[in-house]
Amino acid sequence: MPLNERFQRQLNRFKGVFNYFFPAPVGNLMPREVSIELTNHCNLACVMCPHGTMQRGKGFMEQALFERIIDQCRGQVELVYLYGTGESLLDNRLPGCIRYAKERGLATDLSTNGTLLNEAWARELLTSGLDFLTVCLDGGDKETYESIRIKGNFTVLVANIRTLLRVWREVSSRTRIIIQMIVMDRNLNEVEGFRNLFTSEERNAVFQFRIKPFYDTYRIPKEQIGTTPACFLPWNQMSILWNGDVALCCFDANGKVPLGNVWEQPLRDIWNGTVVQRIRHRQRTGQVHDLPLCSSCGVPRQGYFNPILLFGSAFFRTSRIRILIPYYEQHVLDPARKLLGARTAKVSNDRSV
Ligand code: SF4
Repeated sequence: MPLNERFQRQLNRFKGVFNYFFPAPVGNLMPREVSIELTNHCNLACVMCPHGTMQRGKGFMEQALFERIIDQCRGQVELVYLYGTGESLLDNRLPGCIRYAKERGLATDLSTNGTLLNEAWARELLTSGLDFLTVCLDGGDKETYESIRIKGNFTVLVANIRTLLRVWREVSSRTRIIIQMIVMDRNLNEVEGFRNLFTSEERNAVFQFRIKPFYDTYRIPKEQIGTTPACFLPWNQMSILWNGDVALCCFDANGKVPLGNVWEQPLRDIWNGTVVQRIRHRQRTGQVHDLPLCSSCGVPRQGYFNPILLFGSAFFRTSRIRILIPYYEQHVLDPARKLLGARTAKVSNDRSV
């Protein structure tokens, strides 16, 4: 990477963290991470996903818009997530999109429900330069999995993951594979079972078995509001929907808090516009009570926005942090959650926001 780009990214990291803590002007910011929704179509209807209650129209991002976004990310943004509230494997352009981003110096991350991830897809993705691939497996057996991932097929998914892990070894891929379980009441006892679905040889190809708690991610009780640190996402991560609308964050599945539209404005202008500035000010000063979504959001309570960690994050590339997070979760967050007796959320089909 050219020295100039490296310096720009480092400077952007420091500016973002500084501006999170202090209201002093630091000049224009750019997000460190951008989530790009290639499509909001999905082939499943999972019980914990807001997709089922989505009110906006469905579609695929135009190629010209995707390239415009990536071109503007170049030299500033560090990591792009190639998914939003939808299944990106429904879009055959995905491997080309990964290559386009990689050729412009961006790290790439994909999360998939894995049901379409056959051998051809596995070969395409694992040779595309993709940096992180998360496959969601929310159960240790067929009955549990299929009660959560409605329309999913447990047998097909496990076979797909096995194929993925075999291809990973065959092509000596450098993609980091994460097999993820979102823990909730109905699969709480299957955490070990889901790891044991795979042989030790297969497990060697897995970078992380990630246990992601489904605490009240989207909502917290009103009486607990106001006890959380400021959310770092309005400084760190931009979420772009398939039609170019920039949503508040990745939890704004309906795009109810639009920050702008990438067809109409450059990313930089949106990320330094009055709407996002107002949200940052509210977050920084704890005045989130009348902010839609933020006022009842549980994300800042999950232990990722510790001031020491945030300050330290300014010294690391975002892809490096993405690698370190599993260790933080395993050795700090998980024991702390157990100690505090954190509860898993009841699963509700009503995730509209
Ligand atoms: S507090 Fe929640 S809803 Fe608000 S920006 Fe952060 S993650 Fe999004």
